[in-house]
Amino acid sequence: MKKLKKIFVEISGCCNLKCEFCPAAQVKTRPFMSPTLFEKIIKESKDLTERHCLHVLGEPLLHPQLQTILKIADQYKIQLEITSNGLLLQEHLPLLASCESLIQLNISLHSLTSNLGLEKTLEHIRTIIPSLEVLLDRSPKLFINLRFWRQDKEDNTLLEELLKLYEGEQFIQKEKNLRLRPRLLIHFEKTFEWPHLNAPIRSEKGYCHALSSHFGILSNGTVIPCCLDGHGDIALGNAEQESIEEILQTPRAKKMREQFNKGLLVEELCKRCQYIERFEK
Ligand code: SF4
Ligand code: SF4
Repeated sequence: MKKLKKIFVEISGCCNLKCEFCPAAQVKTRPFMSPTLFEKIIKESKDLTERHCLHVLGEPLLHPQLQTILKIADQYKIQLEITSNGLLLQEHLPLLASCESLIQLNISLHSLTSNLGLEKTLEHIRTIIPSLEVLLDRSPKLFINLRFWRQDKEDNTLLEELLKLYEGEQFIQKEKNLRLRPRLLIHFEKTFEWPHLNAPIRSEKGYCHALSSHFGILSNGTVIPCCLDGHGDIALGNAEQESIEEILQTPRAKKMREQFNKGLLVEELCKRCQYIERFEK
């Protein structure tokens, strides 16, 4: 099997924010992933993928044994990406700075504005920017992405403020990102709707990169084909009871891959997924 680009590992099924666009609030609280399960997953999948990303739903920095989790990542020398809402960044700064595996940190700024409002978010940003600078200085291979995945009025004001903080830097603008300074980027993306089984069928045809470039594992061990299946509707197996290799070769997983390659969507969730429109362009 060709090497995957990314495996999403949800270490925390709960979040300290409640974004209106996120299904985390409707999902039954899941336990934090145990370090034992995390190590099993990393051991079995380290050679299958280029990197692991701590996220599906929930806030990874909430994990009470974050230090142990990051130590495991370092022990197996994986390439680690973390997606966080940034609320606990200050608190975990020393831990993150000492994690050698960490190569990318994504901070979802759109989550902050939708929960804290503009003023408090601005205050928070002004506090965390010096911490981000410390992280970048201490970790020479680290990239930080500040995500703006909702471009409404509040986010535009936030963006203007952020640009002011980096006044004098040579910004580099690309299609979907703007480089504020080396290794610190703003990432722009359109909001998307999370697929759910109650939505009307969008199409029975389409292609998705799930299972050929990535898959995900929820904090309870459920293996899912993509990071959008936060409810575990396409449960391919459980990483606690089976090996990752076995799960990726189950008839359900194989069928999904084969049918994607023929341009067909077999799973009910996929037939209702708007996200795959991005792969049609
Ligand atoms: S911060 Fe992320 S995980 Fe938490 S509610 Fe918002 S979108 Fe969901
Ligand atoms: S089509 Fe949508 S729901 Fe199905 S695997 Fe791809 S991203 Fe996930």
